[in-house]
Amino acid sequence: MVSIKRRLVQLAAAFAFNSHVAGFFRGTIYRGNLKQVCLPVLNCYSCPGAIGSCPVGSLQAVASLSTFYFSFYVTGFLALVGVFTGRLACGWLCPFGLIQELLYRIPSPKYLLPDWTRFVKYFILVIPVLLLPPMFAGDINPGTPFFCKWLCPAGTLEAAIPLSVTNSGIRGALGWLFTWRISWLAAILIFVILIKRGFCLVLCPLGAFYSLFNGISFLKISRDPERCNTCGKCAVICPLRLPERTMNHPECTRCLKCVHNCPTGALKWRLQITEGCASVHVKN
Ligand code: SF4
Ligand code: SF4
Repeated sequence: MVSIKRRLVQLAAAFAFNSHVAGFFRGTIYRGNLKQVCLPVLNCYSCPGAIGSCPVGSLQAVASLSTFYFSFYVTGFLALVGVFTGRLACGWLCPFGLIQELLYRIPSPKYLLPDWTRFVKYFILVIPVLLLPPMFAGDINPGTPFFCKWLCPAGTLEAAIPLSVTNSGIRGALGWLFTWRISWLAAILIFVILIKRGFCLVLCPLGAFYSLFNGISFLKISRDPERCNTCGKCAVICPLRLPERTMNHPECTRCLKCVHNCPTGALKWRLQITEGCASVHVKN
């Protein structure tokens, strides 16, 4: 039941974040006032349907200006989302997370990655997203948003491909960068068919940022040690194969499958402000 509920929310969010449908037919992007609003998920600014801004793109856009370097608005907004919900947005709202889950349903051999690979995304957050854009910003020309330009599969899938199909000007300007982006996208799509949420686990800079808050967020999964009989069902049912009894692991996207399948009801989804204070049990 929670899987159906979550899928409906994911679909509704993907549509809501990309509801400028006319843009797909006209080959243009929406530039109205809503575009100043930062979304809590990876959703390309240049997607013809996007009505808000991608936080990763916004961080780089500000960092590439010679005058600013750092966006307090975007960082503060993401920190607020992280402090309240951890990686909930990854599991319930992110369109690229949804795409990965659908691709993973394609029948193929499935694999697990060694634990160290998840640290790659922190490197991506720090180097191409936060450090390289300001380093290459000139006094007149802004620097390059390195992650958007070279590494973002969502940008290619949601923006570069639809715009190149419907906009002849963009199509005419395609060059070797587009070839690289298509090849990289193809590699990522194969990767996520074989590895559940492979991009989120290994490469996404936004997932890296939110993962820092998973253990301390107000909304979290709590385990009652008196009820838990250590049967390990939570680890078996976890789509990301996270270890049992480490609720709120940095990679947990809050799908809540463990909570709903715990045979003793030891797991609860709670709003807990501080350790030891009264907490509110969220109806699952
Ligand atoms: S290219 Fe990727 S990171 Fe950049 S704005 Fe688009 S979705 Fe965001
Ligand atoms: S980690 Fe995955 S779900 Fe979270 S923002 Fe990145 S792509 Fe989306």
